[in-house]
Amino acid sequence: MEHEQITELIKAQNIFFNTNSTKEIKFRVKQLKQLKTALKSNEEKMYKAIYNDFKKSNFDAFTNELALVYLDIDEAVSKVQKWSKRKRVRTNLLNFPAKSYIYPEPLGTCLVIGAWNYPIQLSFAPVVAAIAAGNTVVLKPSEVPSETSNIIAEIVNSNFESSFFHVVEGGVEVTTDLLSMKWDKIFFTGSIKVGRIVYQAAAKHLTPVTLELGGKSPAFVSKNCNLDVAVNRIVWGKFLNAGQTCIAPDYILVESSIQDEFLQKMKNRILEMDFALKNENYVQIINDANYDRLKGLIDEEKVYFAGDFDPATRYFPPVLMKNVDFSDRIMEDEIFGPILPVIPYEDLSWAIHQVKKQPKPLACYMFSNNSSYKTRIIDEISFGGGAVNDTIMHIANSQLPFGGVGTSGMGSYHGKAGFDTFTHHKSILNKVTWLDPSVKYPPYSPKKLKLIRWIMGV
Ligand code: NAD
Repeated sequence: MEHEQITELIKAQNIFFNTNSTKEIKFRVKQLKQLKTALKSNEEKMYKAIYNDFKKSNFDAFTNELALVYLDIDEAVSKVQKWSKRKRVRTNLLNFPAKSYIYPEPLGTCLVIGAWNYPIQLSFAPVVAAIAAGNTVVLKPSEVPSETSNIIAEIVNSNFESSFFHVVEGGVEVTTDLLSMKWDKIFFTGSIKVGRIVYQAAAKHLTPVTLELGGKSPAFVSKNCNLDVAVNRIVWGKFLNAGQTCIAPDYILVESSIQDEFLQKMKNRILEMDFALKNENYVQIINDANYDRLKGLIDEEKVYFAGDFDPATRYFPPVLMKNVDFSDRIMEDEIFGPILPVIPYEDLSWAIHQVKKQPKPLACYMFSNNSSYKTRIIDEISFGGGAVNDTIMHIANSQLPFGGVGTSGMGSYHGKAGFDTFTHHKSILNKVTWLDPSVKYPPYSPKKLKLIRWIMGV
């Protein structure tokens, strides 16, 4: 899309927003339902596109992408009335007599920028929150899975007025252009590197941003855990989407006394789950550049287990690495692929200290039946969110705000948190006129000051 067209699009959305139509709850509900209908009736097309892009199966595309969007829509439809209601809060003595209210109001025209790894979910989940909160939206899906981007644009742009919700496709150039414009909110999902670019662009207009970024998410495995269940859930969470998941366990910290048993069970489980080349449910690496990057991260001397590679189909098998150290190359950056480094530790304090020396993770997992083990990790390490005795699944509870902290992101969404992310909470003090005490007005006196101090209690 050309610069002039984008300028016109934003102008049209601003004009539409100012008609106040999006503030009607009925309007929001209608649009959300329309989105669900449009997505449902185009499921097959989306499955085909995402499969062509990186061999994501229908099963994965439904469970990890569309189902989450549908659930978000259903929840927003049923709760938006309640979420949007003005809320009465207590009025303090200083303001008595009066009533105090918080009015949730939409921010205006919002830009949502998606990442490639869950291209449907990461595009539409923020959009659902933005629409529920009463905004207009421009969505820029990731251009990397190009067929999915095309189909997202086709579905949205043929079902919605562009002055309300429109998809703009494109790569760096178009995104840079979009980011140079004035928005009322920017919601970005992607890498830390581009997150910085988005933040800087937003600062120019003092636009509020939500940044859903990445990082290295650890999983702690203690000798007091249910090891079979831990292995099941780690194998699933790590190799889902071929490790291309922002909240996948990036590396394992395992008590050294069980490292061998853990690795043996991991290998067996990987073989049982059959993440093989012929397996139609195992996702490809998104492109050759990422394939080569991942290949370069493997230290052959530390490989415990690896399947056969097939660069021609970008099939990258699960790889387990043993006795890894924090100084190893694989520990420098987020892996974002199916390589799992395992770091043994003797002392939990040491392990916690090592994690705390790294940038704050997006997720953290802990496998243990010992409550003080879990409590120490939760209390001592700052991270976006996570799970005890599981991986990934905290993302699927909309009651839990989803987001990072530090370099893994700022702000959160899903459920009510998503609504709040696209909402300004406007405070109103509603005063009576039948009482207007003179105590705050000049001329001041020691007596007035004494009375004010008494009223304020300070
Ligand atoms: P990315 O940062 O390369 O791209 C994200 C978006 O930014 C895309 O739409 C892309 O077109 C745009 N973009 C890329 N370069 C740009 C530039 N120079 N200027 C302006 N816009 C630009 O990220 P990605 O490769 O799509 O996704 C992978 C990263 O995203 C990983 O780090 C992963 O952890 C993170 N991620 C985070 C979450 C989360 O919810 N926190 C979810 C998925 C992915």
